[in-house]
Amino acid sequence: MSNESGNKFGETAGFIHGYIQEDLKGELNKVHTRFPPEPNGYLHIGHAKAICLNFGIAELYGGKCNLRFDDTNPAKEDTEFVNSIQEDIRWLGFDWEDRLYYASSYFDKMYEYAVLLIKKGKAFVCDMGAEEIKASRGDLVTPGKNSPWRDRSIEENLDLFERMKAGEFANGEKTLRAKIDMASPNMNMRDPVIYRISHMSHHASGDKWCIYPMYDFAHPVEDAIEGITHSLCTMEFEDHRPIYDWVIKEIGVFDVIPRQIEFAKLNITDTILGKRLLRNLVETNQVDGWDDPRLSTICGIRRRGYTPRAIRNFCEMIGVAKANSTVDIQQLEYCVREDLKDGTPVAKAVLDPVKVVITNYPEGQSEFLPVENHPSNETLGKREVEFGREIYIEREDFMENPPKKYFRLSPDKEVRLKGAYFIKCTGCEKDEEGNVTTIYAEYDPETKGGNCTTRKVKGTIHWVYAPSAVDAKVNLYENLTIKNENSENILNPDSLKTVDAKVEPSLADVKPMDRFQFMRLGYFIADSKHCRKDNLVFNRIVSLKSSFKPDKA
Ligand code: ATP
Ligand code: MG
Repeated sequence: MSNESGNKFGETAGFIHGYIQEDLKGELNKVHTRFPPEPNGYLHIGHAKAICLNFGIAELYGGKCNLRFDDTNPAKEDTEFVNSIQEDIRWLGFDWEDRLYYASSYFDKMYEYAVLLIKKGKAFVCDMGAEEIKASRGDLVTPGKNSPWRDRSIEENLDLFERMKAGEFANGEKTLRAKIDMASPNMNMRDPVIYRISHMSHHASGDKWCIYPMYDFAHPVEDAIEGITHSLCTMEFEDHRPIYDWVIKEIGVFDVIPRQIEFAKLNITDTILGKRLLRNLVETNQVDGWDDPRLSTICGIRRRGYTPRAIRNFCEMIGVAKANSTVDIQQLEYCVREDLKDGTPVAKAVLDPVKVVITNYPEGQSEFLPVENHPSNETLGKREVEFGREIYIEREDFMENPPKKYFRLSPDKEVRLKGAYFIKCTGCEKDEEGNVTTIYAEYDPETKGGNCTTRKVKGTIHWVYAPSAVDAKVNLYENLTIKNENSENILNPDSLKTVDAKVEPSLADVKPMDRFQFMRLGYFIADSKHCRKDNLVFNRIVSLKSSFKPDKA
């Protein structure tokens, strides 16, 4: 199954198709999904899975997907998050058109439906406090106890609920509870609270309300109001499905009966998902904001240089199942690398520079050599790079006393400078601590372009011309978390390393978010937050090598 836009997501969502196709054989004639974030934090890669799934499934069946802010909890929500969430979904490549909804805009309807439940004798106002309710719920083996307020008359319940709304009671003094079954084997069916009192301003509805609906009541109502046919959510809501269905059935006024389908959350190795944990890192300044390139927030991976297509491909590749599993972060990096490899221009950069003086190259002279902008993609063209007597190479590309099979530069050995010449090392200079400060070499003018018919060299190294090279800061990343000796995940103290690099002068004009492949080093992006003409900053998106093999996936 595939569709016109090329978004194939959903093909790997096997069991969900089973449900949908079953429904479409019956009375249902459309598919309508929604992505329902709570605006209490930034989206992360786990949400990307849910976004790709909801929008992907809708598109696949010629249906629609709504964006709905599930903003029923006034305590934690903020317009900052409302804006960032929209930006992130758009960036991922999905469009909700004119279907942006707020759960809070249904507060009147929800109140009306709660009154309806009271009138049907299906809900009651309870005077027990939160602790008392908890204590009376029983447990998996013991049935709960009925609330002493359970048999209030409909009139009394209507009156009290209205007075709850009017602000006559303090927080926690009363709740509205569904009247279901205190002996149900499913704890969520033991007369759950569906409205609570909270004297608190709401980011959208202001001070209009002091009672707020609980998730188990609000969510099915939101879905039904919007005509959602398939309400895809994560596994922790599986035990809530009976209450979801109960709410829809007992209110009984809806044309479309939404079906809740659960799928497993995405977990990724060696990183942190979950808004609460992410927020803690940001608020305690352990990272450079919500968009720190090490974070798995959508804004973080955007700043890191991951592409939306790579994320979508990743979500498609990992598929959707009911069983929880943890995906290797290398699989995500593989998708990024695959997406960058054909279209990203190559540039020269040396991350740990040491100077090489080519003593037989005439002083005060230089030349321009043509180089390809990409090893296989000719459409990216060519450019000229300057070469002359002084260049920088990577410190690790030189060894004074190399082991066998070291094919880079060492005394009396020859190496190819990519796109330039063969050079042979004639010696080096060191400081008092024994660190190499300058390497001396001679070039062979007959090997221009790095070509030679008479002899071969095994090593090819990259370089930049020293007089015109530009300084740049380069951020190198490792996984955000590592395991300590007790196998607990802790923050990796080496997750960020910043080095002072030398880069070719063409990079002085980069725009934030420009991407490059630095030869032998990986893919890099000009940092959107800190990179300026007089302060170049690049982030490593991914290195070139991976241990992930797609056929093992
Ligand atoms: P977190 O646990 O990270 O704080 P959340 O579940 O509280 O996330 P919501 O805003 O409530 O975040 O979630 C919006 C949607 O995204 C929900 O349908 C939720 O099931 C889904 N979702 C959240 N985390 C993941 C994940 N790791 N994998 C897949 N879907 C997820
Ligand atoms: Mg949540």
